[in-house]
Amino acid sequence: MLTRIYGVAFSTKQELDDYLNMLEEAEKRDHRKLGKELGLFMISEEVGKGLPLWLPNGAFIRRKMEDYMYQKELENGYKYVYTPILAHKKLYETSGHLAHYKEDMYSPLDIEGEEYYLKPMNCPHHHMIYKHGQISYKDLPLRLAEFGLVHRFERSGVLTGLIRARAFTQNDSHIYCQKSQLKNELIEVLKLFKEVYTDFNITDFWYRLSLPDFKNEEKYGDIKDKKMWEESAEIAEQALKEFEVKYEKTEGEASFYGPKIDVQTKNVLGKEDTIATVQVDFYSAKKFDLNFINEKGEKEHPVIIHRAIMGSFDRFFAFLTEKTGGNFPVWLCPVQVLIIPVGEKFNDYGEKILSELKSSGTRVEIDKTSETLGKRIRAGKTKKIPYLLVVGEKEKEAKTVAVNFRDKKEQETMPIAQFAEFIQK
Ligand SMILES: [Zn+2]
Repeated sequence: MLTRIYGVAFSTKQELDDYLNMLEEAEKRDHRKLGKELGLFMISEEVGKGLPLWLPNGAFIRRKMEDYMYQKELENGYKYVYTPILAHKKLYETSGHLAHYKEDMYSPLDIEGEEYYLKPMNCPHHHMIYKHGQISYKDLPLRLAEFGLVHRFERSGVLTGLIRARAFTQNDSHIYCQKSQLKNELIEVLKLFKEVYTDFNITDFWYRLSLPDFKNEEKYGDIKDKKMWEESAEIAEQALKEFEVKYEKTEGEASFYGPKIDVQTKNVLGKEDTIATVQVDFYSAKKFDLNFINEKGEKEHPVIIHRAIMGSFDRFFAFLTEKTGGNFPVWLCPVQVLIIPVGEKFNDYGEKILSELKSSGTRVEIDKTSETLGKRIRAGKTKKIPYLLVVGEKEKEAKTVAVNFRDKKEQETMPIAQFAEFIQK
């Protein structure tokens, strides 16, 4: 019998201690652990492995993320569509998924003797939408977007909460454009990445340009048009250069239809991880016979960009949970403020603050249970509520609140109006 034993070694005690600290911190921040503690999501054996259920607190945050993304994309000229999670076998024969991607798909469903598959990607559905009318060069770039639910085959051994699941929702889009518009569209996508990540306080990310490894016959074997690949890789690289960002190049990570730009970051274990991708595709338009009428009145194939700014909402949410340790940005929190009257006598004052803050749009609750003050403060902190307002005799008389911050030890007393203004910022 062969037993594999892994070990790690460090040259100094300090390095070992740092490593152990990091492991401990990573365990505390594990999104599966926080998911349970904060009521974010669950996996039910009855529903099935790798099929997450979003609980009210997690669902609230996800909806906020979706609303944010929806607004952002509308402002940037994206057009939203809805498509079903199933498609006829013919669609995946055309797309090449059954030839290249079948291992990642589930067995077909039989519907009246015909085979249907759960969609592993949204692209073919979007291509059909592109195709339904005659597109002119004046309609391009056309940016179709969808929060698309996809299903991919994953072995049970590799399932990891929301990071690796069998069903997840992509923040997906397909941009159809002329070749001359490609570089600019890629730069616009890179800009959008930066804006979105900055709004979520993610600053430590970089780009990776993934190119094919033509020696990998299985993945890239039937690529006939090497020139086209090189050309699209060249444009992608130019976009990165013009956008002036840090990037690295790797071979063999590209998808089977084109080079891609991956957005890389470090996860809580310090391991490099891909959070999102942009892919250039000179291939599918021909396969699906997608055309537009160009300036000369001739039919021409568009270039397609596949991109997901947040990757999947599921993965992005897991990443955000681990990165923040569950201390989500205030604008995402289901409960932003918890009022804790020190005793029954001050419940009225607490209620008054509650209605004042509610009327200014703050998500606020009050804890009037008979538990000790200490216990209620601890409960609020465990739920990682950003602000706990303790109110008693002194605060009632002075019309103030004593604010306990999630990320500070000291509490601070301020007038109600000042706090209301502070939280609106
Ligand atoms: Zn796609």
